[in-house]
Amino acid sequence: MVTRPMQEDTLSRNGSPPFPKRSTIGVLGLQGDFDAHRRALEAAGAEVREVRRPDQLAGLGALVVPGGESTALLRLLAPRKMDEAIVAFHRTGGVLLGTCAGLILFAKEVASPGQPSLGLLDVTVDRNAFGRQVDSFVDQGRLRLNGTEVETEMVFIRAPRIRRVGPEVEVLGTWNGEPVLVRQDRIFGATFHPEMSPQSPFPQWFAQQVASPQAIAPLGQAAGSREDITP
Ligand code: GLN
Repeated sequence: MVTRPMQEDTLSRNGSPPFPKRSTIGVLGLQGDFDAHRRALEAAGAEVREVRRPDQLAGLGALVVPGGESTALLRLLAPRKMDEAIVAFHRTGGVLLGTCAGLILFAKEVASPGQPSLGLLDVTVDRNAFGRQVDSFVDQGRLRLNGTEVETEMVFIRAPRIRRVGPEVEVLGTWNGEPVLVRQDRIFGATFHPEMSPQSPFPQWFAQQVASPQAIAPLGQAAGSREDITP
């Protein structure tokens, strides 16, 4: 089935912005704490839709892949062809945010233990990197949003650690001096759970990024229609 977006407001023609002006944010609702993301983004004023099938990506500006268990997520994605759909969504201009298991899914390399991933974000992550003793904790970290540094609560739950950051990757958040929020072009990845800290400025900032496409780096050569992603 080919599903067409309701509003053809922003599909690029010559001279139009490289990124469609669509600000509805999808939250992948297959596994993990997707409902917390929905609530945090709605509280930040965003329009949110749960996504479980590839055709539900049509018309969205961004997709959030929540924390949970990345191995389970991988098993759930493939039979629905959601893995291919997420890659196509990104290629055709969609913004991606992966938190914790979502970041693991996007990473180019996954270690400790290694597993397949979508390879979209040029980082190496170690899974469950804090060990059993301190596998979950809450602490203060630093975010650099719109050029301003802010201190904010960060919740880590069996979190991965970012061990390598590629040359195209920008570090937007640190905890204890190590990267915990990164961005490459239109992909954002966090090792912590911003959706679990009511005072975190991140959900609102992210929603603003999605709503103002010029804030996101231009698409480059891969401009295309979102209809490409429908099965
Ligand atoms: N440890 C989990 C994994 O490897 C991630 C934990 C989380 O998402 N909070 O997938």
